[in-house]
Amino acid sequence: MVLESLSDVGNLLYGLRAFSSSLYFVDSTCGLILYGELQSVHSQGLFERSFEKSFDYQILFGPGTTLRVSAEDSTVCSILEIPLIVGERVCTLVMARRIFRQEERIEDENACRETAYTDFLTHLYNRRYIDLRLPADLQSCFEQKQPLSILFIDIDYFKKINDHNGHVAGDCVLHGIAVLLQKMVPAKSGWAARYGGDEFLVCLPGWESDSAKQIACRIRDSIRGHIFRTTYGQIAITCSIGVETVTSDHAPKAVDELIYLADKKLYQAKNAGRDQVV
Ligand code: GH3
Ligand code: MG
Repeated sequence: MVLESLSDVGNLLYGLRAFSSSLYFVDSTCGLILYGELQSVHSQGLFERSFEKSFDYQILFGPGTTLRVSAEDSTVCSILEIPLIVGERVCTLVMARRIFRQEERIEDENACRETAYTDFLTHLYNRRYIDLRLPADLQSCFEQKQPLSILFIDIDYFKKINDHNGHVAGDCVLHGIAVLLQKMVPAKSGWAARYGGDEFLVCLPGWESDSAKQIACRIRDSIRGHIFRTTYGQIAITCSIGVETVTSDHAPKAVDELIYLADKKLYQAKNAGRDQVV
């Protein structure tokens, strides 16, 4: 590859950073390291790889500069050397990439997936999860001729909690609600998610309207009866809940319509004085 100037190299390195954990750019003639995050630079030694607990790649450049890249015990490191001519200068770009072992990669992917679908404050599922999971549950209940119910839960006068006690106390309450929901909606019954702000959604595949309303009343009662302890004092709150059910003999509603109908019931509960299930 031929580049006109060092600023072109800068652009190239910038683009490559996404693909490589470590980038090194060396003037191959004089051994000057023009760019790099080096573990260490040795003045002697040739390319070397040891199979001991950790291993090193050592690459010799020009008269006496060795680039030494160390990898941890559990990883394999792939090294790519790309010759570059920059103006008159003969250079080498070295890309060192940490390659995960298979099981480490799977663990890492699972952790990423979990993070992507988890609300950072409450550790419940997040909106992205709702958007992915609810249509799938709806479809599968339709195919199995099963009902599906959702509860749309909104904290009453939550803004006042923030205004009177501060947002940190408000955050503690949101977290406390999540703990209650997790206890009251075991995984075998369905799942609970934070829809956004002070709104939560509970999905109960296979649940008819009556039993969904019963669990909604239990959730409302347990929130009403709970004292949320925060660093700014004890807080009592209530919530309103809208329940909507898709029955087994109906064609599946679109997810948007289902949420719209649950939301409408939630606002009926608010208008009826809050602390209600509709
Ligand atoms: P209503 O009974 O009608 O639901 O009244 P409300 O005060 O709960 O309704 P509103 O939607 O006006 O207020 C919701 C508040 O939730 C407003 C917003 O500042 C707050 N909020 C949203 N996300 C967070 C959060 O992550 N942490 C905290 N502490 N507050 C949040
Ligand atoms: Mg609210």
